[in-house]
Amino acid sequence: MTAKDERAEKKEITCFICHKTEHEGVLLSCRKGRQDLWVCTRCLPMLIHGG
Ligand SMILES: [Zn+2]
Repeated sequence: MTAKDERAEKKEITCFICHKTEHEGVLLSCRKGRQDLWVCTRCLPMLIHGG
């Protein structure tokens, strides 16, 4: 991964499950292990129910 890609990735927030962007829906930040992740409201229920 180049430095340019890394920068683009930080700018564009996407759901870690379906990769929907913040422009396509509401994303919520969450944590798993030591990772900061973003999840959209469509995938959140799946997450809550242990998906
Ligand atoms: Zn999603």
